[in-house]
Amino acid sequence: MKLWKCTVCGYIHEGEDAPEICPKCAAAKEKFIELSKEDADKVYNSDRTNDIHMEIILLARKIAQLCEEGIKLNLDPACVATFTKAKDEAWVIKQRSKAEIEGHMKKGKW
Ligand SMILES: [Zn+2]
Repeated sequence: MKLWKCTVCGYIHEGEDAPEICPKCAAAKEKFIELSKEDADKVYNSDRTNDIHMEIILLARKIAQLCEEGIKLNLDPACVATFTKAKDEAWVIKQRSKAEIEGHMKKGKW
């Protein structure tokens, strides 16, 4: 299957031909370019890993929310410290995956 990229907004369309109108920015068909096989492979090869990173980001957000609840319950100092540390670690996990996704985008792996 061919991949077509909107040169206006970056939207990527999959199909034998470019779409009549970009679903993202409404640019005309002529604004699309066909991706080379190498560039198309980057998009396909990173599709699942990008999804995994996004799921990790959501899970890290959930961990942070649970930790905030645990901190508020304030059972004892050790328990609060454990939740506080886990919340900080969840932030690192979330931001690391965001940075990786940003790197993928800059390399056309999106
Ligand atoms: Zn577009």
